[in-house]
Amino acid sequence: MTTATNLGFPRMGAQRELKKPLERFWSNRSSGDELETVARRLRADHWKLQRTAGITHVPSNDFSLYDHVLDAAVMFGVVPDRFAHLPAGPERYFAMARGIAYEGGRAGAAALEMTKWFDTNYHYLVPEIDPRQEFALGSTKPVDEFVEAKALGVLTRPVLLGPVSFLLLAKAKGKDFDPITLWPRLLPVYEAILGALAAAGAAWVQIDEPCLTTDASARALPTLEEIYSRLAGAAGATNILLATYFGDLGEALPAVLRLPVKAVHLDLVRAPDQLWHALPLLRPEQSLSLGLIDGRNVWKTDLTRAWGVAEAAAARLGSDRIMIAPSCSLLHVPFDLDCESNLEPELKRWLAFARQKLDEVALLARGASEGLPSIVESLAENRAALKGRSESPRVRSTIVRRRMAAIAPDQLVRAHPYPTRRVAQRGRTPLPLLPTTTIGSFPQTEDVRKARASFRAGKLRADEYDAFLKEKTAEAVRWQEEVGLDVLVHGEFERNDMVEYFGENLEGFAFTANGWVQSYGSRCVKPPIIFGDVARRGPMTVEWTRYAQSLTERPMKGMLTGPVTILQWSFVRDDQPRSETCRQIALAIRDEVADLEDAGICVIQIDEPALREGLPLRRDDWAEYLRWAVDAFRLASAGVRDETQIHTHMCYCEFNDIIDSIAALDADVISIETSRSQMELLGAFGEFRYPNEIGPGVYDIHSPRIPTREDVEHLLGKALAVLSPEQLWVNPDCGLKTRRWEEVKPALATLVEAARVVRLRL
Ligand code: GLN
Ligand code: ZN
Repeated sequence: MTTATNLGFPRMGAQRELKKPLERFWSNRSSGDELETVARRLRADHWKLQRTAGITHVPSNDFSLYDHVLDAAVMFGVVPDRFAHLPAGPERYFAMARGIAYEGGRAGAAALEMTKWFDTNYHYLVPEIDPRQEFALGSTKPVDEFVEAKALGVLTRPVLLGPVSFLLLAKAKGKDFDPITLWPRLLPVYEAILGALAAAGAAWVQIDEPCLTTDASARALPTLEEIYSRLAGAAGATNILLATYFGDLGEALPAVLRLPVKAVHLDLVRAPDQLWHALPLLRPEQSLSLGLIDGRNVWKTDLTRAWGVAEAAAARLGSDRIMIAPSCSLLHVPFDLDCESNLEPELKRWLAFARQKLDEVALLARGASEGLPSIVESLAENRAALKGRSESPRVRSTIVRRRMAAIAPDQLVRAHPYPTRRVAQRGRTPLPLLPTTTIGSFPQTEDVRKARASFRAGKLRADEYDAFLKEKTAEAVRWQEEVGLDVLVHGEFERNDMVEYFGENLEGFAFTANGWVQSYGSRCVKPPIIFGDVARRGPMTVEWTRYAQSLTERPMKGMLTGPVTILQWSFVRDDQPRSETCRQIALAIRDEVADLEDAGICVIQIDEPALREGLPLRRDDWAEYLRWAVDAFRLASAGVRDETQIHTHMCYCEFNDIIDSIAALDADVISIETSRSQMELLGAFGEFRYPNEIGPGVYDIHSPRIPTREDVEHLLGKALAVLSPEQLWVNPDCGLKTRRWEEVKPALATLVEAARVVRLRL
């Protein structure tokens, strides 16, 4: 018998049922009971659903009320001192996740830092570990949930984040200290949990070690053997499946296959070749879990091809030594395609969400157990669906293909280098030293969101909605003039989301009604699906920008989302390289840039906040990615005349190691988030002698705190220590859509005032 397995399932529920109870609990509008009831029901539903789908190894402890890394931290007693006064339980758990506000004399505490889970759009909470950290069992969640499922008649495979990945994902508090060195102290807690799971009757346990597919694995390889020998000892009769995903084990593969574990899971979607390296290395008592179904994307699997791989592995190992699995946890895909009523039927036939992926897993496992005839019809159906997709005229556009083939190298280069452009730009649009501007959006207040919802529900007519947005835009423009900003923005009131807005105006994009994936905590996003060649239907932003410009003599900045960010925050077609899709988006943005320019707009900002997060997990792959990502930005932006000023914006990120690529974008002005790091990030720009203009954020828009003039002056002083006055712009860290006008108005007034004062001193 071939085992059908799953590594993890979405937590929020088909209709995001967990979201409201969580948020009610946080705002003290409900007791923990409601939350626990809903959570319990979701877990039960999801276990049963997976079993019904034919999954033999159903995961447990993949569920979390906030984040599985936080769960692990709590379980190991990794609780920073600032939360130590709180009693163990939900209050402390959520305090670590969300922070404690300063109020009524009560001391506050910053939440754990949040960062991206590998190269997904899921964010985990970063455990903080200092050299003196002691570990102690702080919860028995994996055992509790195993017992809970068992009572429902489902014998699950509990999932634990492995010790190597837990320590490698943690943040070291203290210099020259690597948390991985603490493994001997941490291991007893793992041993205790494994012992308890074995005692509770777990036949299998899944230990996730995604870090083994990254460069960080080198830090752990020397100790891997010892760690896993001890874990295997503690697990006793419980079998360990060691799960690796998100990439290739590379040089770690032989070491991983030598470990005394009963099964190893490989991601064969991202790294199919490692199968052939693994097969000869497997010991006779070991099984191999084949990650054949893409857990990171929404497309139907090519089941015939996957079957070929499964069959080859089974021929070598025997069908009972292979398991069929998704490449990684299904956390990163939407719940159920059947919940989609708006998607066109043709497109729907090409897709598979979490539930449908379980069916694919079960099908391949059945084929491997019962023989090809048992699935031959399903394979034929799947081939027909895939053929429909590859032959659909909606996927390929001759016009787009022709344009792509005709892209010439000079389209990626501005007509003249930056110094020449600067002269032309200042000639057309005179600006003071230290010009002031904002990043684009203004507060999306209740009335803006309500009007959009009414319009979408058909309760507000298009002309009424339009008039409303115009009024909002006009108010914003008037106010910016009053406060004295130099380069204005229209405020982005018409936009729901910086990617969705563009996707809705582009061919090749589809939108789900319910395709939510968890981003962090209760927050979910609904990424667009890029299914076909991308092309503009017509101008997307020109009307709004032109209207806003008509209200003022000052320069109005056109606002676009860049090709890399649109790509990065979407589900991307898997039938051509990502670079290709990115280039198509770039061409569409390029057209928009040209139209804005023709409409008389002299400053155009192309946001690329996701540029850095697109970096591949392995350093060796960075250069190639950066090459095409930078080229896409240049293709989008380089078509303008010298006197048109191109801006770009990036949120908080580490710039040091990609500074040459940032410079290669050749934007005239880049605004970046720096105020949280007190301008430390600027160091990279200074050392690199970054040649163009920079607006390091001087107002931390993530905090409700309104900066004082001294704060802003202080930050500008720091910036001027590394940049010349000719280079420096004055702006907030990021868009202001999440803030309130009551905060934004005084903050920006202060920012303008501080710029004026500092300017006088130059
Ligand atoms: N222009 C966008 C805004 O102001 C940029 C948002 C972002 O950087 N994520 O909202
Ligand atoms: Zn930003």
